[in-house]
Amino acid sequence: MKIAFIGLGNMGGPMAMNLHKAGHQVSGFDLSEAACKKYAADGLAIAETAAATLDGAEVVISMLPASQHVEALYLGRNGEEGLIGKIAPGTLVIDSSTIAAASSRKVAEAGAARGIAVLDAPVSGGTGGAIAGTLTFMVGGSTADLERARPLLEKMGANIFHAGDAGAGQTAKICNNMLLGILMIGTSEALALGVANGLDPKVLSEIMRRSSGGNWALEKYNPMPGVMETSPASKGYAGGFGTDLMLKDLGLAQENAAAVKAATPLGGLARNLYAAHSLAGHGALDFSSVLKLLQKG
Ligand code: NAD
Repeated sequence: MKIAFIGLGNMGGPMAMNLHKAGHQVSGFDLSEAACKKYAADGLAIAETAAATLDGAEVVISMLPASQHVEALYLGRNGEEGLIGKIAPGTLVIDSSTIAAASSRKVAEAGAARGIAVLDAPVSGGTGGAIAGTLTFMVGGSTADLERARPLLEKMGANIFHAGDAGAGQTAKICNNMLLGILMIGTSEALALGVANGLDPKVLSEIMRRSSGGNWALEKYNPMPGVMETSPASKGYAGGFGTDLMLKDLGLAQENAAAVKAATPLGGLARNLYAAHSLAGHGALDFSSVLKLLQKG
């Protein structure tokens, strides 16, 4: 299949590579020259512009930071025409960015008006899952469009869920990430308390992992440097899932909670803690670095 892939960052790059390795003809683009160079060196075809990736593309996939990037790309900005005006009718668009459900619905409506099917398909599983092709996809859109997307999603992920109509994938995603943001703070807090009492963080992690405190952060993404070789904490909190991206997701969750009058007190507190951590200059570090806020430097 000919696939246009826009956004070759921490997640998009490895996802595009998995499609490339599966034998698809992928044409990639990213605004960052460094990202383009990195994946060109790995054999991915790189286009000059986002529009240039569309040449013959049957499917367009995007993996961008936030709502404003996705809206600008597809719907246009400052009088410039967006991709929806340039994509051939009949093409399938899969946006895997985590954005506001309202933005996903806007893009889906603009697509529908031109005969272009649009799915919101945000993911969970981190950069490790993106590299291994084991992501979880939470899809919003029609069942028929999801079935068209499934063979490609299966090359990038291990679990594919149909959350509901357009935007539903995003709603599922922010519920999940609100829980993850809270879990990472709770895990950091417990580890910092143990270490302050002289416990070995490796031993404490193993005890809690196998006890009732066990959770994904302990299992796959330990925030304490040196406990888990593969976690961002052991690589200076580089790469991974940025604090500012978590902050964005918790903001989306709070906006959504306000709209439906839901009570999300821990989600609100978690958003404020990541905001303080970002203001302290750690926005670009992996979100597990929130441990720094809770531990003596
Ligand atoms: P990232 O910042 O590493 O990558 C985003 C890329 O998009 C950057 O390389 C940037 O240059 C590029 N970009 C921005 N605007 C563009 C445009 N108009 N055209 C082309 N490229 C453009 O972010 P990421 O970690 O890959 O995350 C991407 C999305 O996935 C976010 O919405 C994030 O919330 C979500 N997500 C991330 C993770 C994770 O662990 N990193 C996990 C699940 C979901």
